Amino acid sequence: MPAETDKVNLLGMPQGDLETLFTAFGEKPFHARQLMRWVYQRGITDFDDMTDLSKSLRQKLQESSVIELPEVLSQHGSKDGTIKWLFESGFGQAVEAVFIPEPDRGTLCISSQVGCALDCAFCATGAQGFNRNLTAAEIIGQVWHANQTLPRRENDDADFAVTNVVFMGMGEPLANYRSVVPAIELLISDLAYGISRRRVTVSTSGLVPNIDRLGDECNVSLAVSLHAPNNALRNELVPINKMHPIEELLDACWRYAEKRTNRFITFEYVMLRGVNDSVGHADELHALLDGKPAKVNLIPFNPFEGNEFARSAADTITHFQNRLRMKGLVATTRKTRGEDIDAACGQLAGKVSDRVRVRLGDKKIRMATA
Ligand code: SAH
Ligand code: SF4
Repeated sequence: MPAETDKVNLLGMPQGDLETLFTAFGEKPFHARQLMRWVYQRGITDFDDMTDLSKSLRQKLQESSVIELPEVLSQHGSKDGTIKWLFESGFGQAVEAVFIPEPDRGTLCISSQVGCALDCAFCATGAQGFNRNLTAAEIIGQVWHANQTLPRRENDDADFAVTNVVFMGMGEPLANYRSVVPAIELLISDLAYGISRRRVTVSTSGLVPNIDRLGDECNVSLAVSLHAPNNALRNELVPINKMHPIEELLDACWRYAEKRTNRFITFEYVMLRGVNDSVGHADELHALLDGKPAKVNLIPFNPFEGNEFARSAADTITHFQNRLRMKGLVATTRKTRGEDIDAACGQLAGKVSDRVRVRLGDKKIRMATA
């Protein structure tokens, strides 16, 4: 929750802004670098413990500023090692972050908004409605907590537990561009978490103008929630498609890929039984992406209460994937993790008081009878 005092929260502030602040204090800008190392790399939030800052500077900081982290309300561990945190977001609300450990990496899935206004037909976050954007402090605070709570990676105590970050939790990151970009800056800064751009992934349902901005300003990995191979179906599943249809979205993707010297864009495709999972859909999808820097990540639908969709059968998913592969596309299926603690993709609901529900969707789609 944002600071309730008049003091400035320095958490989430990019290096340039911190340098301006120190200059305004009549101090040298390089103190910004010291402060960032204390906060992100050593997990220190009390200015008095930042022993390489002069006493007078520490006092100025105490009087004017705070390092305020989002409060952790709960932590749940799955039997598969996945961990989910619930973070206080003010007025009885909460957002979630999920850590997914794998032998060669530790991926943190973070939230960018309290809820989401985009109303995708199959998403638990969308079903909650939207309350507000998270601040950069609340976004980077999720990473801070995970890295402070989890042991550092084996045999090298310089390595944080979180090696990869995906903006695939609650919210549409490109609808909160103002806060997401400073958070990305901190993720990739050597003075904070030093994660390579390649290992930071922004997932978007397709806010085209901000895909272009992100390509110019951040150049991190991009995942696009496609979920349907034609506009008629995508309008129903991902209603923002009515504003930015598939052709416009894909053009923005190829522009993005060009700026990244042809790195691949990942297209997420949730497998909904009897809705978007036929061989015909696979062929349409292939036609859209053929010859482009694209890979497809199939996501088995994760059910949640009150939603009528069903997950495609395992052999339907395998068949769909093989069809794409046979035709030359790179296609993988996302392993479902943390289902027992409601931490799987699309299951993050947190606690949201819906304020500005933009009812883009009309939820006409129903699964075909199995
Ligand atoms: N708002 C962004 C990022 C958050 S959702 C976006 O839509 O891309 C992360 C991914 O989970 C998206 O691809 C989203 O479409 C998918 N998803 C949403 N609900 C799901 C569900 N119930 N089962 C499986 N995947 C889901
Ligand atoms: Fe929002 Fe993404 Fe869920 Fe759609 S899938 S409602 S954009 S969080």
